[in-house]
Parts: sequence; C-alpha cells; structure tokens
Amino acid sequence: MTKYIYAFDEGQKSMKDLLGGKGANLAEMKRLGLPVPDGFTLTTEACIAYLKHDLKLPETLMDQLETQLEAFSQRTGKSFSSNEQLLLVSVRSGAKISMPGMMDTILNLGLNDENVEKLAKKTNDFRFAYDCYRRLLQMFGQVVYNIPMTSFDTYFEEYKQQHSYQNDADIPAEGLQEICNHFKEVYLNEVYKPFPQKPLEQLTEAIEAVFKSWDNDRARVYRQLNEIPHDIGTAVNIQEMVFGNSGDRSGTGVAFTRNPVTGDAKLFGEYLLNAQGEDVVAGIRTPKDIETLKDQMPHVHQQFLEVSQRLETHYKDMQDIEFTIENEQLYILQTRSGKRTAHAAIQIAVDLVEEGILTQSEAVMNVEVKSIDQLLHPNFDTQALQQASLISKVGLPASPGAASGKIVFSAEEAKIQNEQGERVILMRPETSPEDIEGMIASEAIVTTHGGMTSHAAVVARGMGKCCVTGCSDLEINVVDKVVKYDTGTLKEGDMISVDGAKGDIYFGEVATMKAERSHAFEQFMKWSKDIARLDVRMNAETPQDIQSGYQFGATGIGLVRTEHMFFGPERLVEMRRFILSDTREKRIEALNQIRQYQTEDFEEILRLSGSRPTIIRLLDPPLHEFLPKSEEDKAAVAKQLNVSGRTLTQYIESLEEVNPMLGHRGCRLAITYPELYIMQTEAIIKSALYLKSQGIHCQPEIMIPLVSTVSEFTILKNQINERIETLFEAHGESLHYLIGTMIETPRACLIAGDLAQECDFFSFGTNDLTQLTFGFSRDDAGKFIGAYAEQGILDTDPFQTLDQHGVGQLVKTATEQAKAINPTIKIGVCGELGGDHKSIQYFNTLDIDYVSCSPFRVSGALLSTAQSEVKGGRLRV
Ligand code: ADP
Ligand code: MG
Ligand code: MG
Repeated sequence: MTKYIYAFDEGQKSMKDLLGGKGANLAEMKRLGLPVPDGFTLTTEACIAYLKHDLKLPETLMDQLETQLEAFSQRTGKSFSSNEQLLLVSVRSGAKISMPGMMDTILNLGLNDENVEKLAKKTNDFRFAYDCYRRLLQMFGQVVYNIPMTSFDTYFEEYKQQHSYQNDADIPAEGLQEICNHFKEVYLNEVYKPFPQKPLEQLTEAIEAVFKSWDNDRARVYRQLNEIPHDIGTAVNIQEMVFGNSGDRSGTGVAFTRNPVTGDAKLFGEYLLNAQGEDVVAGIRTPKDIETLKDQMPHVHQQFLEVSQRLETHYKDMQDIEFTIENEQLYILQTRSGKRTAHAAIQIAVDLVEEGILTQSEAVMNVEVKSIDQLLHPNFDTQALQQASLISKVGLPASPGAASGKIVFSAEEAKIQNEQGERVILMRPETSPEDIEGMIASEAIVTTHGGMTSHAAVVARGMGKCCVTGCSDLEINVVDKVVKYDTGTLKEGDMISVDGAKGDIYFGEVATMKAERSHAFEQFMKWSKDIARLDVRMNAETPQDIQSGYQFGATGIGLVRTEHMFFGPERLVEMRRFILSDTREKRIEALNQIRQYQTEDFEEILRLSGSRPTIIRLLDPPLHEFLPKSEEDKAAVAKQLNVSGRTLTQYIESLEEVNPMLGHRGCRLAITYPELYIMQTEAIIKSALYLKSQGIHCQPEIMIPLVSTVSEFTILKNQINERIETLFEAHGESLHYLIGTMIETPRACLIAGDLAQECDFFSFGTNDLTQLTFGFSRDDAGKFIGAYAEQGILDTDPFQTLDQHGVGQLVKTATEQAKAINPTIKIGVCGELGGDHKSIQYFNTLDIDYVSCSPFRVSGALLSTAQSEVKGGRLRV
C-alpha cells in the first residue's frame, strides 16, 4: 500500500519532492523542537494520482486519513466532535517549489452550526467564534465552490458601512452571526447547495479542491513563468488551528530574517493584532512594523528573534517566516527561503559568507543569474529626477527599478495594451493572484493599499519588477478609470514614472541612467570569477560597450563585428562605391578610403582591450545590406556616386538574392573579392603595430566567418598571412596574432578535425549554426516557433537556449575532434547562446575555453559558469 500521508513527526526537510516545501519544512521545524501546531501532510503522489485518475482520490487514501485523524486525536486529545476539545484545522497547499499566493488555504475547517456554539462557549467569546466561522464560510466557498469573492466581500463591506464600523474588529458577535447567516444563503444562491456541515465532508472536499487548484490558470501561468514542471503536483497540509484572532493578545504576521529589499542583516516584518491568516498579506489593514512587537509583547518578540536566527543558520539562507500569536504564545506556521531583490540577494550572500554561515561556493549557488541581470537595470537620472514633479511620495519601496509607462487600471487592460506594444503601469488598490499575467505585462505596479509583504510586493520582487505599494495619498477608482492625487486627477493612458527603490511616483517620463554596482557586488563577482573555469568574453565593438563589458568582468572580446563599422554616413558612401565598382582598381580605391576609417576603429578597440585577446571577425553579411532601399535613398546614392539611376537600379537588382542567408556572404565574399579581407587585415595589423610602438601589446585574433571547407580557410589564411608578412617587413616590426574561424555551418562541425589542423582558434557562431542545423530561418521562425512550443515539439526556442540534442551534439563532436588533433586550439562560443544560463551549463561540460556574449550579460554569464563549476563542471576524462 502506498503511504499517502505523513505525520509532521515522520518528515524532514529533504522530503520536499513528496511533502512539498511547506510540509517538509513544517516537519523539519518540528524536529528542531520549534513551536509548530501538530498536523500531517498528504503527499504530492496523492495529488498526481488524483489528477491522473479522473479526479478520484486514491482508494486507500480515506482509510489512511481516518487513521491519521485518530492518531492525531490520540496525540492532542482533540477531535471534530468533542465538546471540550474541539479540533479545528487549516488545509494548506504546498508544492515542492514555493508558489506564493498560487494555491488557496482554508482556515478554521471543522466549524459548523453546532461547533461554532461549542467554540463560543468554551472560549467564552462569541465574537471570536463567529469571526472564525464567517472566515471559513468565505474561504471554503471561494476555494471549494469557486464562489466569487465579491459575493461575500460586498455584503461584508456594506454591513460595516451600514453600521458605521471602521474595522473588521469593530463588528460585534451578533453582527458576525448575521453575516454568517447571510453567507450560508450565498451558498444556496450561488451553488444551490448548503455549506457542508460534516467536518469530514468539509475536509475531503477541501483536499480535493487543493489538488484541483494545481491545474488552475494562475498556477499554470506562474509555473510557466518560473519554469516549474506541470506534473509534480502539490501536497496538502492539515494542521491544527491556532488563533491570531482571539483578542488583543493575539495576532498574525510575516517576517524575513533579513531585509529582503536592501539585504540589511536585521529582522524585517509586519504583524497585525487580533487578525487571522492572510490579513497581513492581503493588505486589509495597514500592518505594524515588527519592531513595535518589542513594546507590545517583549518576550514574544525575543522568542521570535531567537527562532528566526536559528532557522536562518539551520537553512543557511534568509528565511521568510509566517507566525501566529495566540494569547501571547508564539507559533511558527511556515518557513522558506525568502524572495528578495537582486541587490539584497548579493548583499545577503556576501554577508552570510562573512558570518561564516556559507562558503563562497555555496554563496555563488544562492544567487539567481537573473538577479545579476536585474542589478544592471537602469535607475532614474539624478538630474532628470530633480526636475520631475512628484505625484506621490508616501508609497513603500516594495521592489526596486525605474519604470515609465501609461496608466492602466486592470490586469486585462495591461495585457491588451502590452500586446499592442505599449509600456504600461498597473495601478490597483491592491493585487491578487488573478492579476499575475497583467503584472507580467506591466513595467511597474503601483498599489494604494498593502505593505512590504503584500501580494503585489512579494510577487513583483520575485519577478524583478519595479513596484510601489501603499500610496495611501492616491485614490484609485477602477470603475471610472481615474486616480485622484491631492490637486487633480490622472486618467487611463497618462504617462507616469515609478521609482521602486524610493517609493516615489512622478508625472511623465523621467530619463534613466546606468546602475551603480555595490561593494558587495564586486566581491561576489570576484568569487564567481575565481570559481569559474570558462572565461567570459564579450561581443562588442563600440568603445562604450567595450568599457562596460570590461567593467562587468569580461576577459577579452569574443566578437567584434566589423560590419557595424560600415554604417557611418561617410563610410557607407565608400562601401557603396566599393560594391558598385565595375573594376578591381576602383574597388581598391574605395577600400583604401574605408581602410583609413577601419584603422582608427581598430586602434580604439585594441587600445581598450590592451593585452586581452580580441577577436575581429572579417566582413560577414551579404553586400546588398549596404545598399539603399527606398527610391529617395537610391536617387541620393546615384548622385553621390555619380551614376545614373538606371545603372544603380541594375546593380542593385544584380545583387539581389533569393536566399541571402545562404548566399553570397561570409568568407564567400572574400573568395570573390580577396581585396576586402586584405584591406581589413591591413587595418587591424597597422593599428596593432602602431599601438605596439606606444607600448601597448595587443593580441588581435582574426576570424574568418562562415567556413564550410578547409580550402576556403587555407586560401584566405594564406592571403592574409602573406599581407601580414609584407607589413611586418615594411615596419621592421612584428607582433603576435592568431587566425581562426567561426564554426557556424554543420559541415564545418563535421570536418572540425581537418579544420583544426589549420586554425589557431574556433568560435562557434550558435545563431547561424542553429539556423542551418534546423533549417529554420532565424528571421522567419517567429511564424511557427510559438506553435512548436505549444504542441510540445520544442521545449524551448533553440535561438535562445541551446538545442542540446542536435546543435549541442555538433558542438560536442567538433570540439572533441578539434582538441584531439590540435590540443592548443582555443575554442569559444560567440552566438547569443553564449550568454544564456542553461546553454552555459552545457558548454561547461565540454572542452571549451570561453563563452562570449553582449556586455550586459557578461556578469550573469560569469555567475552561470561559476554555478556550473560548483555543480560538477566539465567531466574530465
Ligand atoms: P500560502 O502558501 O498562501 O502562504 P499558507 O498555507 O501559508 O498559504 O496559509 C496562509 C496563512 O494562513 C498563514 O500564513 C497563516 O497565517 C494562516 N494559517 C495557516 N494554517 C494555520 C493554522 N494552522 N493556524 C493558524 N493560522 C494558519
Ligand atoms: Mg496565500
Ligand atoms: Mg504561507
């Protein structure tokens, strides 16, 4: 018989697959002797079985449930039917990977018309008992029967208004009793059946509802977004209730062991007195800072402080802890690794190493690569900020970032406008899990209610999205689609800017600037670099990009694309003159002009690189890319070059290709026009020689693109070498240089051994290699890649993440062959995949020396390579 239920006493933290994160951690905390209410966990296997077998609970499950309840009664002395020792439980979902707000929790289960009276009598608190009951009716209705939240909330709010009650806590017992009666009618009106009175029936229905919620839309969206598999299911935790809503000596709260926004090593949290469950997170009342608990209940505060430190040291990571206080008794209801901003992630990782809790390798594993990317996000330009005018500055800095966009008031609208290419900012009183897709589609989220742990804040931090919560000086009317601020109103479509690091909102669009990196960031990146085996180079050609890339930790340049240098207005004229010349002499004349420009460019690039290796790719794209397209441009070019419009049109037509990506490009250009690469070689070597005379010893690496035969390479290499020799002789000086090729055709991979005998280096161009291996045109794949993903033909877009089984095998074979024949050959990857986390994990298992990516991805790539190394790195033979 499969064991589908584990008492908390039977589990531990390593059992996340089976018990889910919440269940495994509840069990672990129990083992540590922390004050955790007793309970048991239904396994993820039970959920999977239920979903697989047409929503039928596994046969033995009910028996196991009864056995567990019995054992539970033995341990606690409580049961659903006892008069004196009434058992009430919470039913809580919890998957292996935490999915905040994605699944629903039911509290106070076990109450019914009879038990609520028992509870009232026993506690001598009718108000409390009926507050619990109305919450159960509400939660159970929503979760189990899908009754819309508003069916309960509207009545509840109206009731409060009618009787002029400010807070939920002001409603007296009779009022809550009346509300309960109304809620029971809601069941009859909405689902035509009464609220189930039998506790066991409630329990089974709740369990099934949690199992089913695994497949609801928002759970699916969340999993998609976070790459969580759809088939691992959720566990269900049944836990004895403790009551934060049993008066002013009780309460409920959420706390992080460190500040999740800044990373400061100080307890950070919020709580509400006389409240239950999600009251804090839902932003119903503005919660209090955990600091004030020190005054209200000093010993509880002290105890919580100790528990939180213990949990952090035990789990070796910042924890997000949910707790409840019942009559000054502290209970811990959940712990997990806390979501944090990128900035905090780095700070915490570095601090934990310095505190001796983590090793450097462990710290490197504790930061997500996407955090690094986020850290490099821009901030508002300080000067522009001074001139901008504020709409609100009372909001909380819930998740940092600087974003501008047009106001929208609903998640749906955010989605629609985003699909039309608009940048939008979602403004809501508060957000709920239904808003996830709209939040994804927005540049930033602004709410008027809720604190630092509200739904909007937590989810936005997880997404790395700019967010400001609790702008209580603004009034949002989602029906009329306007926001009132102190002196006026804004409407849908108005542009605003949001500073998530400060909590400020501005009118209009405010300019941004580059992010500054902290001391902790530098420290962390140094550790990553020390651990990494693979070097990370950058793909860059402008001085600005090159400087950024080196700041981000690049060890050299993996790809200078020379074609980018041909587009300046003067250069373009000469380039066009070259392309349109009918004799070799004229071509050389045009190229002489271009060489001047190129020499200046290379001098700057090589100066910035200094002695770090720099790969310069010779001209690659088809020539027609340089020619005028519009009639207007054509007329202008004809005039510039002094040819008739007709002649120009004829030239252009003669250059047109049916399949330019497979046409006259790459090394094929130089096979037909050898003077092209020779000119570029001269420019490279002359600038390098000049720099050498200034004491800068650079290492140019000349790369010939799109090779698919050995002869292509050797013919061009010989021409290049010959010219370089001549230059060395003329200057009476020489320098170290390399000649290699870009591996981007499948054939080149297959003959890699032969090529390796001739080449000093290989650089895999994964964009073209993917394009040519699949036969997918990169520019047209958008038309069908979506359908491929939907139908499960492809797991991921192979242009974004390496296709390991196909393209990856070519890279592997080519690398093995090349290194076998030429052990000193240097091998790198320079396509976009060189900066992709998953692809890097694979590249690091091969005998590759470096990856190269755009400058802003360099730091992230360094962390990826370090993480891959910690996980085992290259399988050395
Ligand atoms: P989520 O996964 O959305 O955080 P939880 O299962 O943690 O959902 O439940 C949400 C909240 O409900 C908890 O933070 C806690 O305040 C409350 N809660 C859950 N179980 C109990 C319990 N046994 N006693 C008291 N409160 C509970
Ligand atoms: Mg929740
Ligand atoms: Mg929770």
